[in-house]
Amino acid sequence: MARRCRYMRPVMTQHFKIRLPDGSVREVAEGTTPADIAAAIGPGLAKAALAARVNGEVRDINRPLEGDSELALITARDEADALELVRHDYAHILAEAVQNLFPGTQITFGPATDDGFYYDFAPAPERGPFTEEDLPAIEEEMRRIIARDEPLVREVWTREDVRKLFLEQGESFKAEWVMELPEHETITMYRSGGWIDLCRGPHLASTGKVDPQAFKLTRVSGAYWRGDQKNAMLSRIYGTGWLNRKQLETHLTRLEEAAKRDHRRIGQDMDLFHLQAEAHGSVFWHPKGFVVWRALEAYLRRRLDAAGYEEVKTPQVMDARQWEQSGHWGKYRENMFVIPDEVPNIEEEGPIISGEGDWMALKPMNCPAHILIFRQGIKSYRDLPIRLAEMGVCHRNEPHGALHGILRVRQFTQDDAHIFCREDQLVEEVRLFLDLLDRVYKDLGFPDYAIKLALRPEKRFGSEEMWDWSEQSLRDGVKAAGRDTDEYGWEELPGEGAFYAPKLEFHLTDAIGRTWQVGTIQTDTVLPERLDASYVAEDGQRHRPIMLHRAILGSFERFIGILIEHHAGRFPLWLAPVQAVVATIVSDADDYAQEVVARLAAAGLRVETDLRNEKINYKVREHSLAKVPNLLVVGKREAEERTVALRPLGEGARQEVLGLDEAVERLAKEALPPDLR
Ligand SMILES: [Zn+2]
Ligand SMILES: [Zn+2]
Repeated sequence: MARRCRYMRPVMTQHFKIRLPDGSVREVAEGTTPADIAAAIGPGLAKAALAARVNGEVRDINRPLEGDSELALITARDEADALELVRHDYAHILAEAVQNLFPGTQITFGPATDDGFYYDFAPAPERGPFTEEDLPAIEEEMRRIIARDEPLVREVWTREDVRKLFLEQGESFKAEWVMELPEHETITMYRSGGWIDLCRGPHLASTGKVDPQAFKLTRVSGAYWRGDQKNAMLSRIYGTGWLNRKQLETHLTRLEEAAKRDHRRIGQDMDLFHLQAEAHGSVFWHPKGFVVWRALEAYLRRRLDAAGYEEVKTPQVMDARQWEQSGHWGKYRENMFVIPDEVPNIEEEGPIISGEGDWMALKPMNCPAHILIFRQGIKSYRDLPIRLAEMGVCHRNEPHGALHGILRVRQFTQDDAHIFCREDQLVEEVRLFLDLLDRVYKDLGFPDYAIKLALRPEKRFGSEEMWDWSEQSLRDGVKAAGRDTDEYGWEELPGEGAFYAPKLEFHLTDAIGRTWQVGTIQTDTVLPERLDASYVAEDGQRHRPIMLHRAILGSFERFIGILIEHHAGRFPLWLAPVQAVVATIVSDADDYAQEVVARLAAAGLRVETDLRNEKINYKVREHSLAKVPNLLVVGKREAEERTVALRPLGEGARQEVLGLDEAVERLAKEALPPDLR
């Protein structure tokens, strides 16, 4: 039986001072809940209040206050908190629904996610894992539970009682879990009607507080109990959950739009690249895809040259001793591909590798190698800043399950650079970088991006002074560039920095409103110390340079993936794999078509011919599906008059008849990369 913890009531009722966000203070009797306070303020608030923030912690609206407190009521306007709460409720309701419909199913965990929730179940063995066909019935049952509007009641239990109850109910996962909760933790169960779950909370006051039309179950998958492959395989049901129907619909439309833009599908349709199991997480770039890559790389290289960077190329494989010195061989090793430094055995007998050779590793990052270049020869304060750039090919040993198209890969090419500078140069270097990055993002079609400063995390290396000046330098750099404004989404994120340094992050917003973190710049004093980089300062002494790690695109693979999805495959002309196709209406125009192609190619355009004996409408449709930005149609009349009918890609684009010279000149101009215009 459930047993509620009750304290002996004191003879005198205690009173607490509750401070509200407007600064006012209310005195309330013990036992008062945030819901009571909301009701005392007004019926509107009583209805709107979903939960409460008590001394910073989100709590149930009906949980009595326990002492003098700061109280803020949470309504749907506090969207982040409200979403988290409703998603947790949906997960709870999902679990209840599944147990109602499928007796014998065991419950495990069900957290809120970025766009909804999931719940992991252990279905009855005779039943097997859930499938997508089960989802409509589960949704219906969830709606029935919501309609019943059962109160969600928090109860404090003892560990033993929880275990006993779950064992009685055949819930072995929950019974196992409760025994592992930390000793000091208050153990709470949430009850709605006849259903009960071990849960930390908080929850809304009742199941009817969520909108029955604002969620949708989306898919099922397998998941291991506690994420460990050695454990039982569970059946996970995912859903998306929102505050209201409109939000849900917006989200579903965005998902649909995102599916249409999926870079894997477009990459295949446009013949840009492929992936196959023999090279997990490494991309096979096809000729057309690599054209995009080369155009992007050439553009970036010109920008870097103009910004005073020097390009280098460093070894792909280095000795383990080097990685030990840089600190990567320790914890970071699990992300690396290690290689034995020995000649493999080719005899049938014996192992291929003896295991006695030294270890080497493929580089997971370029930083140590750049310091090794910096260390060659004596550097003086006058040599600084030194900006070493590398289109650095790196390998990281990501688990197969984490890979995703070309967005998450194991072999990737960073647009990496390290700036070695003096302390007095730091702010200016940050400012220069911000200007360069701004130009690049705007050139690539991302005028909308946000700058965030990730500040010191709880667990960190280095002195407080180091953190103070590093954070302040990055902040000052952003100010000096004039980008500490709302227009640039300027924001500081406490606790989110790397363990050795703070960093600026750059988040792009794409055409359908998704954000992607791509660029970064961070200060580092640890690696120059570890690898003994120094310069001779004005005082004749050796000083450590500050190292800035920075990238604008992040990696070419991921960035091209983002470009594909952002533009839905319709690259800006200068990046398009094929910039124009010359298509004939009749075979009489073949010679002239060849001449047009030769002229366009000579003007630097990437151009193809389509002389097939097909109807011109068929050709137009095919090339617009292949997202060719310009189609030049030529027939008998065009050949005689030395003109072309130019049709740009896109709805509402009009065909225009131009003289050949004019058409070549116009397209050549339009195809120039942004920095050469
Ligand atoms: Zn819960
Ligand atoms: Zn680096």
